[in-house]
Amino acid sequence: MQSTIAVTANTQQYLDLEEKYGAHNYHPLPVVLNRGEGVFLYDVDGKRYYDFLSGYSAVNQGHCHPKIIASLTEQAQKLTLTSRAFHSSGLGEYEKYITGYFGYDKVLPMNTGVEAVETAIKLCRKWAYEVKGIPSNQARIIVCDGNFHGRTINVISFSSDPAATNNYGPFVAGYQSIPHNDLPALEKALQDKNVAAFLFEPIQGEAGVVVPDDGYFAGVRALCTEYNALMVADEIQSGLARTGKMLACDHENVRPDILILGKALSGGVLPVSAVLCDDEIMLTIKPGEHGSTYGGNPLACAVAITALQVLKDEHMAANADAMGNLLRSELKKLDSPLFQL
Ligand code: PLP
Repeated sequence: MQSTIAVTANTQQYLDLEEKYGAHNYHPLPVVLNRGEGVFLYDVDGKRYYDFLSGYSAVNQGHCHPKIIASLTEQAQKLTLTSRAFHSSGLGEYEKYITGYFGYDKVLPMNTGVEAVETAIKLCRKWAYEVKGIPSNQARIIVCDGNFHGRTINVISFSSDPAATNNYGPFVAGYQSIPHNDLPALEKALQDKNVAAFLFEPIQGEAGVVVPDDGYFAGVRALCTEYNALMVADEIQSGLARTGKMLACDHENVRPDILILGKALSGGVLPVSAVLCDDEIMLTIKPGEHGSTYGGNPLACAVAITALQVLKDEHMAANADAMGNLLRSELKKLDSPLFQL
């Protein structure tokens, strides 16, 4: 769709720089932002915007939340990175905090969302061979049509979006895609004894914010338990107070076997992601079998604790619920074909 936004000469100079020197892998709106505060963003001409996107759900706490920025600057002056060749004083504290917060035995810290998805997939495969007893190299993971879990070759191998896959092959095997929000299709796919896991976005994000029917999460939980397959919820976008609960799965009081978080885990300050699960799954990965230079770095640990604390202290899940209902009810009054509510 052609943008109708009037572009000033000041804005245009920034657009020109990106066009000339940056890769053309995005096509953003012609708005150049240089300041954020709470729900507001400001462009280089001083124009103020409400930010309804929140960095694709990475800034659920609001832009430049003062408490998160304070943790960032305080920790940045002490220690930012040790690598995991050493221990660091903040790591255990963060691990205790986040596992207690979400109720899992252990966490594996990573950086970007897709790294956490890759980590979860590795855990599923390890668990499949070492706990479930699936024959070597036969493990399969069920995913959903229209999924978005990131951009690595492995993760796009099970994407149904041609723009994500075109001319990037060959792809990684071991995935089967079924329709989203379709419990009979899931049950059919789970008949295969070599299925290790069902990986899904509780609310599909990039597919257009697709909310499944009531009872879907509970149905997924019941089927995964019945067929001894791991329920893996990618809550990178739907989680952390985005949908009126801390996690989307909380709407049905469902606990996934593997929980994947990212984005707002740092309140938009730096890439912080995490995979949470219990020992039976997590301890299948042994020293040297997986890792990341920046994963669990002291700066990330300090920021993530505060980002999570702020969500609770400021009742952001309840606020998202209230604001969502308000927006929806006011949009309904407009009775416009632009909004499908
Ligand atoms: N999973 C979901 C559900 C996402 O929405 C995204 C990003 O939009 C990702 C994974 C990938 O996260 P990242 O871009 O940080 O790698």
